[in-house]
Amino acid sequence: MKAVRLEHVQKSFGTTVAVQDLCLKIEAGSFFAIVGPSGCGKTTTMRMIAGLEHPDGGRIQVGANVVFSDQTGEFVGPSQRDVGLMFQSYALWPHMNVYDNVSFGARVRREGRGEVRRRVVEVLERLKIANLIDRYPNELSGGQQQRVALARELVTGASVLLMDEPLSNLDARLRMDMRAELKRLHTETGKTIIYVTHDQFEALTLSSHLVVMHQGAVQQLGTPEQIYRAPANAFVSEFIGLNPINFLDARLRNGSLTIGGTTIPAPTAIGVNGTARDVVIGIRPEYVSVVPEDGMADGVRARVESVFQAGPNTFVHLEVQEFGRDARLLAQSFGDGGPVATPGSEVRLLLDRDNVFVFDRETRHAL
Ligand code: ATP
Repeated sequence: MKAVRLEHVQKSFGTTVAVQDLCLKIEAGSFFAIVGPSGCGKTTTMRMIAGLEHPDGGRIQVGANVVFSDQTGEFVGPSQRDVGLMFQSYALWPHMNVYDNVSFGARVRREGRGEVRRRVVEVLERLKIANLIDRYPNELSGGQQQRVALARELVTGASVLLMDEPLSNLDARLRMDMRAELKRLHTETGKTIIYVTHDQFEALTLSSHLVVMHQGAVQQLGTPEQIYRAPANAFVSEFIGLNPINFLDARLRNGSLTIGGTTIPAPTAIGVNGTARDVVIGIRPEYVSVVPEDGMADGVRARVESVFQAGPNTFVHLEVQEFGRDARLLAQSFGDGGPVATPGSEVRLLLDRDNVFVFDRETRHAL
């Protein structure tokens, strides 16, 4: 097991800053996800760890080995870093069967035939594709090809496995199966896995720790729970979440939040001290509950605009005049397994106070 450490790593392409001042400490044996929107620098980071890209500055260490340092000029080549790689375009050689594809690297390094065969068979058995050893890529399903690519990475025996969007070519069902497979693999081998994805659900479910990046810079580093429950800024709260988050302008004063003409209690953690300030609140649809208006219900009055039913989930788009002109909100639930909301009907909504995020209006940082 090896830790990976990046200190003040940076990389530009012409005038584009792909990665700026990146500091990451990836613990040995962790499943570490790098997540962020397209172009935020995920692949560039991976390529720098792998040794496929030369950083402009900083220091990278894999285990005890400094593989790049702008101070000493050290640059260790990809094959000497003890890292394996699996990229989104995992292209298998079409003219080689599974055995030859998986053993290719080891054969190039002129390792002993018997030993290579033993390792390949062991890895294929682990991934439950040993029966496909003589097949060619065009005789395999997408999921099977993905496993062969994974086998190719595992067979190198590297301590650190880099995976860049490895499941992106698969359909939803296969992705789910492969996620379970990767998790099992991680537990069994104890290897350090660094995993790039733009799919925040994948990052949340797979990783032990993750970093959220935006425009080449770290936004937040933490466990999935920390990042979901306590986002460092509005960007993270919007990017990490199962459904689109609601943002509303508000004013924070004496432990209360005034939104339009309505005042609600601020989250307990905010307290009552501090001067009044303009904020933005973020609330996930799953923490907005909606009940039918029966003349007795508590909560803020709202009108149902539209309703979407998705299996067990009901999404309700609401117009909330009390929060201001044209204020709109998405709620995930309606009633309590009771009646279904109908467009045009009057309802009441309640925000789960301690799941309201409060961000400074200007910096968008969490208070
Ligand atoms: P995606 O999710 O779309 O793969 P990413 O987060 O992996 O994106 P990178 O591929 O690391 O992002 O790219 C970061 C930025 O650097 C982007 O603006 C990209 O256009 C730019 N970039 C990356 N590689 C090069 C290159 N070889 N030449 C010029 N610009 C590049």
